[in-house]
This record gives sequence, structure tokens and C-alpha cells, in this order.
Amino acid sequence: MIPLRRTCKQAAALLVAREDRRIALSDTVALRLHLMACQACPRFERQLLTMRNAMRQWRNYGTDDGL
Ligand SMILES: [Zn+2]
Repeated sequence: MIPLRRTCKQAAALLVAREDRRIALSDTVALRLHLMACQACPRFERQLLTMRNAMRQWRNYGTDDGL
């Protein structure tokens, strides 16, 4: 159990890293476990997802408008 423990700081770093690269399977598992046990990090994850969706929409607007 102890090797799978992550602090909130580590979990946040993993969430950000996961946005633009593949992270190790052990990190994925550890992150999932942390998100199940933590109150703050799932909220941060939701913010990241919202931000990513917003960025994607913004890019789509750009191509639609021919910018
Ligand atoms: Zn946390």
C-alpha cells in the first residue's frame, strides 16, 4: 500500500502530467487510489477537465471561423 501512496502535491503533478503524456501504470493506479481517498484532488481533476474541454472548444471555434 505504501508505494502507492501519493501526496496531494504528487497527485496534482500526475494529473497535470497526464494531460500531455502517458504516465506509468503504477502512477495511474496510485492516482486513482488517491482520488478515491482525497477530497480536494477530484475537485482539481474536474477543473483540469473543464479547462481542457474549454481549450478544445476554443480551438474548434478557431478552425470554424477560419482564424
Ligand atoms: Zn489529494
